[in-house]
Amino acid sequence: MTEQRIENVIIVGSGPAGYTAALYTARANLEPLVIEGFAWGGLLQQTTDVENYPGFPDGIMGPEMMQHFRTQAERFGARLETDDATRIEVSREGGLHKVWTGDQLYVTRALILAMGAQHRKLDVPGEAELAGRGVSYCATCDAAFFRQAPTLIVGGGDSAMEEAMFLSKFAAKVAIVHRRDDFRASRIMLERARAIPNIEWLTPYVVEEFSGENGSLSVARLRNTADGSSRELEVTGAFIAIGHEPQSQLVVGQVETDAAGYVVTKGRSTLTGIPGVFAAGDLVDHTYRQAVTAAGSGCQGALDAEWYLRDTPFPLSEAEIAEAAAGASA
Ligand code: NAP
Repeated sequence: MTEQRIENVIIVGSGPAGYTAALYTARANLEPLVIEGFAWGGLLQQTTDVENYPGFPDGIMGPEMMQHFRTQAERFGARLETDDATRIEVSREGGLHKVWTGDQLYVTRALILAMGAQHRKLDVPGEAELAGRGVSYCATCDAAFFRQAPTLIVGGGDSAMEEAMFLSKFAAKVAIVHRRDDFRASRIMLERARAIPNIEWLTPYVVEEFSGENGSLSVARLRNTADGSSRELEVTGAFIAIGHEPQSQLVVGQVETDAAGYVVTKGRSTLTGIPGVFAAGDLVDHTYRQAVTAAGSGCQGALDAEWYLRDTPFPLSEAEIAEAAAGASA
């Protein structure tokens, strides 16, 4: 039986919330372990210019910003595990919490959940089958594959505008397909998108089906939500930008989540209701979902964890040590 190291704090997730929590807990000498995932950096890895993060008057590219977050956390001693968490088991009584990456078990006194959110799916026929073959959730990642191609973007928020503007630099045409005539996107983003000649606007329409030719996307069937009429659009690229879903799957049923799957925290804190388990960033936030608010929330998570560790007796009881040792042999 190998001896199981007991971590002070494990952070699961590596967007602005996760790395900020890592930075703060590292600077508090807690030697945090960050389970950052293979695709570390969160959704900002998939964005281009970030113009609304204070401190960068000329803007910064999303991936570059996340590299900075990561480097800063590491500089103060955060340890990074570039692997995906596959299972989490929280101790309801606030004992030791467990996180697995495959067969590897980690045991910790405090746990900060910062798994963020992922792209929402349309759930229409053809979407899953043609994902990666024309259907994409990230124009920043995939736009270059669609040079001079006819494309569409689904959605009416800032993400859809941002994706459309980026894609318009590559594609022959970008049709923005939105289910209402009104747009949720901010005025500045809408105005910028409206000024681009190869963006066209199709409202109020929803995509009902994607179909392909030789395994690649060729047609999107649209339905007008006002009069019910249908039309077909020949496209080889379709980008879905209809918002996000919290990545709470590993903790659903163990910490309180709301109807949409966001982790519920107490008041303005990051406390989940399970002693020693905190949640931060997009995982808890349906409302603001900004890099800067996620970073602030990660800082709160770190401080909450630090105060918890300060106020919670250590060493552990014999039962807890035995439990951790049992975990090591599991
Ligand atoms: P969002 O604001 O929630 O917008 C999602 C859009 O998708 C809405 O227009 C919604 O339509 C539509 N939609 C949702 N489910 C749909 C479905 N099943 N079928 C068809 N359409 C559907 O999400 P977001 O655009 O990802 O933005 C999230 C947050 O990030 C916002 O606060 C935004 O301001 C921010 N953001 C900012 C920037 C920037 O400033 N550079 C860039 C990206 C995101 P309805 O409007 O009809 O509900």
